[in-house]
Formats: sequence, C-alpha cells, structure tokens
Amino acid sequence: MSRYTGPVCRLCRREGTKLFLKGDRCYTNKCAVARRAYAPGQHGQGRRKTSEYGTQLREKQKLRRIYGVHEAQFARYFHIAERKRGITGENLLALLETRLDNAVYRLGLAQSRPQARQLVRHGHFTVNGKKVSIPSYQVRPGDEIAVRPSSRSMEQFKAIAESAPPTVPAWLSLGDDRLSGKVLSVPTRDQIDLDIQEQLIVELYSK
Ligand code: SF4
Repeated sequence: MSRYTGPVCRLCRREGTKLFLKGDRCYTNKCAVARRAYAPGQHGQGRRKTSEYGTQLREKQKLRRIYGVHEAQFARYFHIAERKRGITGENLLALLETRLDNAVYRLGLAQSRPQARQLVRHGHFTVNGKKVSIPSYQVRPGDEIAVRPSSRSMEQFKAIAESAPPTVPAWLSLGDDRLSGKVLSVPTRDQIDLDIQEQLIVELYSK
C-alpha cells in the first residue's frame, strides 16, 4: 500500500487539530490550522453533523496520522494491544509510542515524526550498538538509542548536539552527548501527551 504523499497540513485541517507533522513550522503562525481552522475542500466550511461512528472514526484517523501508520498496520497494533494484559486503549498508545521513529522524535533527535521516520530509514541510528533502519522497530526498557558515529558529523546532528537539551518524557532519558538516549520503561498513559480519546478507537474496533 502506498504512503500518503500529499500536503500534510491538509491532514491536520481534516482532523481539526495540530498533528505536528512539519517540525518548526507547526509552532509558527504559518501553521495551516492556525490560518484556516476548517476542514479542507469545497464543503470544509459547511456545517456538519457527526454521528457516533464518525466521531470514533475521526479519533482513529487522528491517532493513525500522528504516528504515520497505515490502516492495516494500525489494525495489527490494535489486535496486539487487545491480546495484552491491561487496558486495550492504553496498550495501543504504548505500542505506538515505543516505535523507534517516535522514540527518536521524543528524544529531540528529529523535528517531527515524519522526519524521524526518514532518518531511521536512512540508517542514522543504532539500538544497543547495532544499526536499525526499521521505523516501526519496537524499543524496550533498557534499550539504548544513539545516532551512529558516522552520522554525527551531519550538520543537523551537530546543531542538535550544541543546542539546549529538550524535555523528554519520563519513560526516556537523554544522554549527556545529546545524541543518544535510553528507554527506561514502557510509557504509561500519563506520560503520553496526546489529546486522544483512545476509548473511542476501542469502541470503533469492537463494533
Ligand atoms: Fe499541521 Fe504542522 Fe502543518 Fe500546522 S504546520 S497544519 S501542525 S503539519
């Protein structure tokens, strides 16, 4: 299945919220959600009555688009989450959050999740000293994520190494060199700062 390659700001406008897919631009007044706070397309400004199904569907699409995951892959995450012990919605979020591309983004080693995905794909990271180029790779407590030594001379990583350290979520810790980090634990719901009602997604898949 091909990946969506259209304008990503359109996805944010569709979901009516910032999905932070463009790095720095998302924090400026150039953000499309800030400038045109209505859905894209000819009928985007019309009044719309949303059904219960519609609300659940939008929540699922929002979460899927935040992490840049295909429909089939998302459904697989859901079924894994369902089989795990605990609350399905929270398990789902934890699975998405522990993708390698997301961990790279959360450590401040990329400006956005799409950029983190690309950097991982291009082989710029190691996990426990071994090169990993699979964005969906699941990191586990104890794993050490680092920029590969051969990639550290890239302008982008040099700038990161010289910048002030960002605040990282409590399930991760940032290395002193700024270009590495460690997974401390599986993220709990309160450590995932997403405005998502995961219960709606569970209800959608339970139909
Ligand atoms: Fe979404 Fe960022 Fe585009 Fe704003 S600038 S619409 S947050 S991708």
